[in-house]
Order: sequence, then structure tokens, then C-alpha cells
Amino acid sequence: MSHASVKRRKTFSVKIGSISVGSEHPIVVQSMTNTNTADVAATVEQILQLNRAGSEMVRFTVKDDAMASAVPDIRRRLDDAGYDVPLIGDFHYNGDILLSKYPKCAQALDKYRINPGNAGSDERFRKMVDIAKDNGKPVRIGVNGGSLDQKLLAKMIDEDVKKPKKEQSGSHQVFLDAMIASAVNSAQSVVDYGMGKDKVILSAKVSNVPDLFYVYKSLASKCEYPLHLGLTEAGGGTKGVVASAQGIGVLLNQGIGDTIRVSITPRPGESRTQEVIVAQEILQTLGIRNFFPMVTSCPGCGRTTSNIFQVIAEETTKYLQHQTPTWKALGYSGFESMKVAVMGCIVNGPGESREANIGVSLPGSGENPTAPVFADGKQVAALTGDGKSIAKQFEALIDDYVKAHYGKNTGPSLAAAGQKTEKKNKKK
Ligand code: SF4
Repeated sequence: MSHASVKRRKTFSVKIGSISVGSEHPIVVQSMTNTNTADVAATVEQILQLNRAGSEMVRFTVKDDAMASAVPDIRRRLDDAGYDVPLIGDFHYNGDILLSKYPKCAQALDKYRINPGNAGSDERFRKMVDIAKDNGKPVRIGVNGGSLDQKLLAKMIDEDVKKPKKEQSGSHQVFLDAMIASAVNSAQSVVDYGMGKDKVILSAKVSNVPDLFYVYKSLASKCEYPLHLGLTEAGGGTKGVVASAQGIGVLLNQGIGDTIRVSITPRPGESRTQEVIVAQEILQTLGIRNFFPMVTSCPGCGRTTSNIFQVIAEETTKYLQHQTPTWKALGYSGFESMKVAVMGCIVNGPGESREANIGVSLPGSGENPTAPVFADGKQVAALTGDGKSIAKQFEALIDDYVKAHYGKNTGPSLAAAGQKTEKKNKKK
């Protein structure tokens, strides 16, 4: 789906491994591992999980000798498994040392993230850029509010306090302006050191949503580098999701941002892939890209007397996300934009289900205890049973619909499938 109403800010195109980033290309979803990078098996496994969930690039920390020496092995194992997902090395404090000492690591990575706030010195920053240049790798200048260049900040605060009182910006404003200056000046240094402008991506992440708007709008107006967008340290649970969606979504809706990463704290035991799903849902709910069919479901109310409706809404959502890679592997296309409705009662259920590609309207309290299924506006089945059983029948109808409408070969007709289900229900 194209994002017809929003014009992307024009940028250079930057190639990162097999993926191109910039205004001429789709906005890219990326994520970061939380394994010990030196643990090759665990890191490869998590990269595979993230990539299969839809992370188009994966970043991992490279902080010591063990991690740097593991990187070529990680790349080789992914290549052997047939995954060409671009890998980004995240460097802080000693990137120049590790990249010099481990040239195979420098070769195996597809991009280096350099934090100018902790590169060490101008010479050490330059060393990393030179290694990137020699290896033909792009860099991301990744400024972060928590590790801002303190010398630059002190200088800008000094300049501010020397101004007449009413012209002073104040320390918070200077802090944000220092982040922007750090990103823009560092990018200029990279180009001055001989890197092409098509090898640079910028980011300047903060943890507060209004600050993120200010920083990214300013960056967008000052340069043509692609911007990597994300709210850093967004937090966990609903707070992390809401803050990320607000911060990233509003800027994307203004045409700002070329790659995104959602930095939410996973719940204990929660899969790391959650951040990928949230990033995809941000893009999809804005109408920018489609990744998997989404469920339209009502919140339920006093007209729904049991949890059948919630069970089916949840099961259907999981089914669609789980089934998407299988449908893709079968060569089906276009199903990602399909709309699926799961509704709680007769008030809005049939109407919303008819509007969807395929939808089920569950019976509310006191209603006829069957659940009509609509496909392309016509009723094709009436399901009965408990929540799990209706969910399974509905999933089978969805699968038939996808085969019939998006498959390579025409599958069994949905009407026939629906009739079969209706007959079965009558027998019960
Ligand atoms: S569709 Fe029915 S159950 Fe759902 S919120 Fe509306 S009235 Fe309530």
C-alpha cells in the first residue's frame, strides 16, 4: 500500500548489505538482539527469530574481543542457512580498536553504528570512518541523549549563558540543540574524511516524545541523510508501545524517518520479536506498509456475556501472524492488506464484517447462537460451538479465502467451504 497522503522527505539512498534505505525505498524495520554476541549459537538463533518476524536488518552490540571475533562466524552461519539479513555492529568506547584488531569483523558487518558521544576522540572517530571507507561499509552516526558528547554540550551551554538573559535558551533546549549539532557536525566530518554522502545515516534518539519531534524535525530540515528513527528507552508494557507509536508514528506521518526501531523493554519471558511486531503495526496502521492481515475487533460491552468473543479475536490475530510466513512461502501475494473482522454482537458485527474481506459476527447475549461469517460482503457460513471451535472453523475459512484470492492456483471456493461448514453445524 502506498502512503498516498504523506510525501517522504527526500534523502540520499544508502545501501546496507542487500537493503536500500532512503526516501526512494520502503521504510525499513530493524531491531537489536539482547543475547551475548560472543554466544554465536544464541545470537544466530535470535537474529533468525527477529528476521523471520520481519526485522529487515538486525543490530547487535560488539563491545569486546570475544564479540568481535564471533561476528564472522555469525555471518557465516546465517549465510549457510540462506539468510542474507544485513548485520549492524553497535560500537561504543572502543570501536576503533576492535575494528582495527578484527578486520574480518569489519568485513562481515554491513554497517557500523558509531556514537560520536563516546568514540573517544576525533582521531579515534576518524579511525572508524577510515575502516568503514576501506571496507566500503556505510555508517550510522547514532547520537543518543544518554551519551551525548559532553565537550560539545559544555561548550554550547557556555555560549548560551554568555547571552543576555532573555536570549538564553536554557539548559534543556541547549541539550537538544547539542544533540542535533553533534549528529550534523559528525556527519559532515565523515564526508570530510572522504566517505560518500550515500554512506551515511543519522539518528539522534531521546526518550521523551515531544523532544523527539523537535530533534527529528530539526535534523530533517538540516540534511538529506536518511534518518533512523526511534524513541530510545521507551519503557515496557503499554507505556513503551504507546510512547513509541506516538513518537515514531507522528514523525512518519510527516514524512520523516527511513528506518525504524522500537526500543521497548520486554516483559520477563516475552519474545524479543515483540518490538518487531510493534514496528510493523506502527507502519501498517499508518497505511505505509502492510506486513500481515490485521484484525478489526470491537472492544466488547455488556452485550457480550462470555469471553468467546475475546478468545476468537486473540486466536485469529495470532493465527494471521503465524500463518503469514507460510502463505508467503507458498507464493501467495497481496494477502497482507486483507482486513479480517471479529465482532461481538449484532449491533455493529454484521456491518463491520461485511466491510472486511472476511469477518465473523459473534452472537451477543440473547441473540441467535450462531456466528455468521461474511466474505466480500456476503454471508458464507454460520458457525456454532465454543470459542476455540469457532476460532478453528473461522481460521479454516480464512485459509480458504486467502488461497482463493491471493494464491497462485485457485483453491476450493469459499462458498463451498462455507456450505460444508453450515451442513456440519446443522447436523450437530
Ligand atoms: S459490536 Fe456489539 S459487542 Fe461489540 S462493542 Fe458494539 S455493541 Fe458491544
